[in-house]
Amino acid sequence: MNKDSAVVDRTAADHFIARSAAERLWQARHLIVDLDGTLIREDEVLDGASELLERFRGRCMIVSNNSTHTAEGMARRLARLGLQVAPSCIVLAGEQSVAYLRREHPQARVLLAGSAALQRHAMARGCQLVKADADVVLLALDPHFNRARLGLIANQLRRGALLVATNADASHPGPGGSLVPETGALLAAVITVSGVQPLRVVGKPGPLLLEEGLRRLGASPASTLVIGDNPDTDARGALQLGMDCLLVGGAAGSPSLAALLRGAVSAPGAAAAAPAL
Ligand SMILES: [Mg+2]
Repeated sequence: MNKDSAVVDRTAADHFIARSAAERLWQARHLIVDLDGTLIREDEVLDGASELLERFRGRCMIVSNNSTHTAEGMARRLARLGLQVAPSCIVLAGEQSVAYLRREHPQARVLLAGSAALQRHAMARGCQLVKADADVVLLALDPHFNRARLGLIANQLRRGALLVATNADASHPGPGGSLVPETGALLAAVITVSGVQPLRVVGKPGPLLLEEGLRRLGASPASTLVIGDNPDTDARGALQLGMDCLLVGGAAGSPSLAALLRGAVSAPGAAAAAPAL
């Protein structure tokens, strides 16, 4: 096989992957879509993101391991980028971690290592936030994480506080293939220093976020397709709940979101299976 024919075969294989994926997309009644690396990379909107959200408007939920924003704040951020999404259609690991604590540990004194927005949200939901003598340490993507904060957290855990993490991603994709450090990197430092493992990691691949997405959609796992870029969080989380998952963005040979949608437009029978625009 010469070089040119190899290129042709690769293009054909990519086209086949995008076409079969596109057919699965149109068969889905509901979508749960990841955010970072799937719809955006920091402040860059990925090709196809707006079109996907428009085509599935009213049948789509964004479910993300983001722990720095509230849903309201994320909706404003996405609007600035040109993506119109209602806050009620955004499920985030930070907010869901607060909801988990209110359900499971309602009386807990909580040391929250996280953004100012998440701290305000936690207080508004009735969390008792403290700087010492904590019952629970909630670790999110803390923009002020440093050696002193690490020491404070480790010593709270050493004296018996429980550790809850919003998510365990080491990084999420930034522009130009760069890496943006995530909560999992902070969690690794906390575990290394304290020797304490988390009682709970709330974000994907755990079930809490995806289950909340299904609940808000009023959907069943069988009728819902997960679209994401991360095999370890999006695909594994979907699999554990019995949902189909399409990976996009290049992971494991996956098509880009734009290629997926182009395939959907050209897929045989797509017009019959496609939802009304
Ligand atoms: Mg992602």
